[in-house]
Amino acid sequence: MTSETRTPNPESQPPARAAARAAQERPQVLPTAEGWEQQRTPEGRPLLQFASPRVKQPPQHLADLSLEERQAKAKELGLPAFRAKQLSTHYFQHWTTDPAAMSDLPKAGREELVAQLFPPLLTEVRRLKTDDGNTIKFLWRLFDGALVESVLMRYPGRITLCVSSQAGCGMNCPFCATGQAGLTRNMSTAEIVDQVVAANRLIAAGELGEKEHDDERVTNIVFMGMGEPLANYKRVMNAVHRFVDPVPMGLGMSARNITVSTVGLVPAIRKLADEDLPVTFALSLHAPDDELRDELIPVNNRWKVDEALDAAHDYYVKTGRRVSIEYALIKDMNDHAWRAALLAKKLNQRGRGWVHVNPIPLNPTPGSIWTSSERHVQQEFIETLRAAGVPTTLRDTRGKEIDGACGQLAAAE
Ligand code: SAH
Repeated sequence: MTSETRTPNPESQPPARAAARAAQERPQVLPTAEGWEQQRTPEGRPLLQFASPRVKQPPQHLADLSLEERQAKAKELGLPAFRAKQLSTHYFQHWTTDPAAMSDLPKAGREELVAQLFPPLLTEVRRLKTDDGNTIKFLWRLFDGALVESVLMRYPGRITLCVSSQAGCGMNCPFCATGQAGLTRNMSTAEIVDQVVAANRLIAAGELGEKEHDDERVTNIVFMGMGEPLANYKRVMNAVHRFVDPVPMGLGMSARNITVSTVGLVPAIRKLADEDLPVTFALSLHAPDDELRDELIPVNNRWKVDEALDAAHDYYVKTGRRVSIEYALIKDMNDHAWRAALLAKKLNQRGRGWVHVNPIPLNPTPGSIWTSSERHVQQEFIETLRAAGVPTTLRDTRGKEIDGACGQLAAAE
């Protein structure tokens, strides 16, 4: 163990005193990247990559375009505009890109047209399933060899897909597997959307656990896969439009069932609040004090806890949508009762009923020695928040045994 602690080693004290002391004051373990080297700036700060490296983007796909743009594209290809609607119906309603299934399109030129508008974007490399078949992790290869993952989860009455928005991530959070390799590139709108369409296809084929009814599909989307969605703002917003726009413009999903999760890019949170799209907003806070959050979430060096909470609160005021605070509980690092009390105080200062807290026991990442908080500590943390009137629910993370849980997506082949 190389993590520093601020309290003296309890073993050097008489046992009774040490126990009494430990009960009152738990040690403070400080974050250090274990088992890998965190990239740093010349000044020694963790490196933040906001801009995607300038690399080739994937070929344009129908899902990159709005319906008007698709109609313009059809015209450009010498076709009547209504062909755009037909092609959109195949993709967004029937989840197919198979020319043989498109009998409403003239046979001559059909294959070429389909090849042009539906270039294959995601190639399945591997699929891991939990024993009960209700959780599936996909590993996808993109056109340039970049690897990303998505995780599909069946719950009673809903099916959630956790999507990636970037290949890699530039936010460099020391406890998250994705950040460790840095940012490869932003994903295109269609690469994001196609994760959902591929999942719908698989569900329709009966491959996700036991079906509850016949016309099942992804009902909920969380931007909690690889990447920082607000660092790829435009493409992510276009993808959200494809999710919520009615068929055949898009998939016709409900905006409130789509969750955008961020480390706290404050100007982008404010922009999101102005979009007039009532998506669910989640802030990955993980610490209520800047001293610790500066280390845990490097972007905190740009936008502090209070600025991020102000932006989250304004999101609630503008949209009326209750905000989620994500909080990974890490043993002796951020799980102290005083931190729960401080978090409650900061949330209550901004009002009541606008927020709920979602603690997540830390998931192990490769090479890391950080551990999840003990059960009674989790309980104490939750009860401290609840006693202060803050609705709090422990997140049940899925897919741990297939490394598909939060923070475990690293996309190695
Ligand atoms: N970049 C976005 C979305 C991706 S991560 C964000 O940070 O919000 C989705 C959630 O998983 C975030 O709250 C993230 O902090 C959390 N997470 C990352 N690593 C984790 C780990 N090892 N255990 C539990 N949660 C983790």
